[in-house]
Amino acid sequence: MTTAQKLSFDVQLTDHARTVAEREQVLANPGFGQHFTDHMISVDYTEGVGWHDARLLPYGPLTLDPATSVFHYAQELFEGLKAYRQANGSIATFRPFANAARFNASALRMAMPELPEETFVESLELLVQTDREWVPTTEGHSLYLRPFMIATQAALGVNYPSRAYKYMVIASPAASYFSGGVKPVSVWLSTEYTRAAPGGTGFAKCGGNYAAAFVAQRQAVENGCDQVVWLDAVEHRYVEEMGGMNLFFVFGNKLLTPALTGTLLPGITRDSIITMAGDLGLEVAEGRLSIEEWQAGCESGELTEAFACGTAAVITPVGTVKGADRGWTIGDGTPGPVTLKLRDELVGVQYGARPDTHDWVHKIC
Ligand SMILES: *Cc1c(COP(=O)(O)O)cnc(C)c1O
Repeated sequence: MTTAQKLSFDVQLTDHARTVAEREQVLANPGFGQHFTDHMISVDYTEGVGWHDARLLPYGPLTLDPATSVFHYAQELFEGLKAYRQANGSIATFRPFANAARFNASALRMAMPELPEETFVESLELLVQTDREWVPTTEGHSLYLRPFMIATQAALGVNYPSRAYKYMVIASPAASYFSGGVKPVSVWLSTEYTRAAPGGTGFAKCGGNYAAAFVAQRQAVENGCDQVVWLDAVEHRYVEEMGGMNLFFVFGNKLLTPALTGTLLPGITRDSIITMAGDLGLEVAEGRLSIEEWQAGCESGELTEAFACGTAAVITPVGTVKGADRGWTIGDGTPGPVTLKLRDELVGVQYGARPDTHDWVHKIC
């Protein structure tokens, strides 16, 4: 039995909300992660006390002591999900309890406290309800929700994790993640850098994974590619992920996605696609694919498509692959039919245009 008290949120509305005209100007061209709504969520945790001071507040900066643990030791984690304007005008999120569960799996790995799943989902509901006018009505746009947690103890000692934390949620209206719609991306095979090793934090959605990845992403861009593809840490041969997205390979009517070995981030989009593909009569396997097999499959024509998937960019086709000593095109380099079909189905469920047969859509208001 849990003794945790249900948290109730104190609501403090802003007295300087953006005007309708200001909001509409943002919503006309939101970009991704550049503009934020009028409010935010904050909940504090203190060792021995638990979670307390759950609040909805005006959006604004934090004041933190320079010795605050997160600045030095990166004890931090985050989540990402979206609120979608439904065909009938209501607003819904997609599988928020899956994000809540992953948030807690990341928390355990980072020696941070778990947050009750109901509090996680309630915090999203409260923020979206309050800032509902910020949920775009433009097709394909959404309100991106960013829950995160930071270590807030102001102390430099490292023999014990922080004894205080702050959980927050901010929200940002979003257009398509990659500008230019469903345009295939080019990828760079990173053989020099490793994202995650066995026993490390690859499965946790923590900022440190990203901090360690930027140098490789920059190298991808310097080599004329859009995104970096990560390989396994031991042999630098087996494909793991693309940037912040999971990968799928299409062999006719069969799909292959790298298995969750602990070094991959268990994407909720990945999981949804595995289920949806089965519904559509496709065969799905979780396994491994080496870069040699990827290249040979494309050259023989057996490997017909590849795509990346994640909340932010949904499903994005991969068109070309480049490495230090090799390079090839997937299919004819244009988005393939399986990729487009899965994208259409998934987006259809998220925006309420297709039946929600797995009870994934969580209505907010
Ligand atoms: C968030 C993330 C994904 C995708 O997860 P979704 O739940 O599908 O959004 C994939 N890889 C990495 C590294 C991520 O951080």
